[in-house]
Amino acid sequence: MATQCDIAIVGGAMAGATLALALANQRRPDGGSWTIALIEAHPAAAPSHPGYDSRAIALAEGSVRRLQRLGLWPALAPHAQPISQIQVSDSGHFGGLSMNADEYQVDALGQVVELERVGPALWQALARHDNVQLLCPDGLAELQQHQDHVSLTLNSGTTIKARLVVGADGTGSVVRQQLGLGLTRQPYGQHALIANISCERHPGIAFERFTSEGPLALLPMNEQRYSLVWVQQPEQAERRLALSDEAFLQALQNAFGYRLGRLTKVGQRAQYPLALCRAERTHHHRCVLVGNAAQTVHPIAGQGFNLGLRDVEALADRLQQALQNGADPGAFSLLADYSEQRADDRNMVTSGTDALVKLFSNPVRPLALGRNLGLFAMALFPDFKASLAKRAMGWHGGRPR
Ligand SMILES: Cc1cc2nc3c(=O)[nH]c(=O)nc-3n(C[C@H](O)[C@H](O)[C@H](O)COP(=O)(O)OP(=O)(O)OC[C@H]3O[C@@H](n4cnc5c(N)ncnc54)[C@H](O)[C@@H]3O)c2cc1C
Repeated sequence: MATQCDIAIVGGAMAGATLALALANQRRPDGGSWTIALIEAHPAAAPSHPGYDSRAIALAEGSVRRLQRLGLWPALAPHAQPISQIQVSDSGHFGGLSMNADEYQVDALGQVVELERVGPALWQALARHDNVQLLCPDGLAELQQHQDHVSLTLNSGTTIKARLVVGADGTGSVVRQQLGLGLTRQPYGQHALIANISCERHPGIAFERFTSEGPLALLPMNEQRYSLVWVQQPEQAERRLALSDEAFLQALQNAFGYRLGRLTKVGQRAQYPLALCRAERTHHHRCVLVGNAAQTVHPIAGQGFNLGLRDVEALADRLQQALQNGADPGAFSLLADYSEQRADDRNMVTSGTDALVKLFSNPVRPLALGRNLGLFAMALFPDFKASLAKRAMGWHGGRPR
């Protein structure tokens, strides 16, 4: 089978599916739209889907506004749980910090969404657009760049000619590899262990606790559950994966305490090796990278998809202009402009997250003291805390419309 389109997106998880939906909604004054092909290796509801697994992620307040502006929030809202407060603490130390939604005149500091519920919802919304061709399950095998188009060959043998190819295919991006773009990879020697936890109390507060082993976050979910992300040494994560449910809950209760009362149940556990990855460039002739294909960060500050969504928004805005003006979606100037506009945010979030990981993974006494004074200072000096809260809420460069 051979197919032709304006824009081919490789990867249909959070970045690829939100981009495809945003672009599918765009219209020219005469009602014309982009033709889009979305290529994804796994069906949205597949139990082994790498992008829509049992993970729950926190969307910053600014990300929710971005999703609303792109017309995507209605698909996600039924699966979201608001965060009314964030509490940060350091185990065994005096520092501590809390941020409340009402201090910042917002209904919620952010929303928690479960990826395994969001994936099928996004794909159902995509199936309602007749300008989107869904090629799934199928995978990109080969990519060739030509002057006025890019040819893609899929594992099924299908070929696609597109004016623009977007790599939204995650950390191991085949698009990036086919383009020969380099990747810097810095492993942290840590794994994130995730699980859904049921508990006696459910105050709608998101907790981040720094322990001597690594940070531990609990995000509020619906049905009286919390989503756990527990960062630790790979050997420790392996041991905790193998524990019985009772022994695991006891270990977590010891590390976290009783802020949620007794922890009563744990769902399926999974682990992720953590590394900072950055593509050396995010565009090349008629091709561009978004989301984890462009950069993958440590989950310590819950920034990964919030950052990827800002890639999606920036690219979608440029393509909206191109559609209005009848311009080429793969024009070099458009892609270079996108990369340039994203550079500062990418640099700030990747290096800021990396610095946080190092600061909070380090047991050296002066550093521990410094970071606790930092947490303490933030609790006492509201302006300092406000600037941190703005970052946490995704208000980069001001509150999004
Ligand atoms: C433990 C943990 C907690 C996190 N918490 C947060 C949080 O609180 N807030 C936040 O914002 N972010 C968080 N993140 C990060 C967030 O989950 C990711 O940034 C986001 O899900 C990445 O989405 P993506 O679409 O860019 O990439 P991926 O999810 O990696 O998706 C890539 C897709 O491409 C497909 N694909 C790959 N190769 C091919 C191919 N050759 N052909 C076709 N398809 C292909 C894959 O099947 C997959 O569906 C967390 C991450 C982890 C690990």
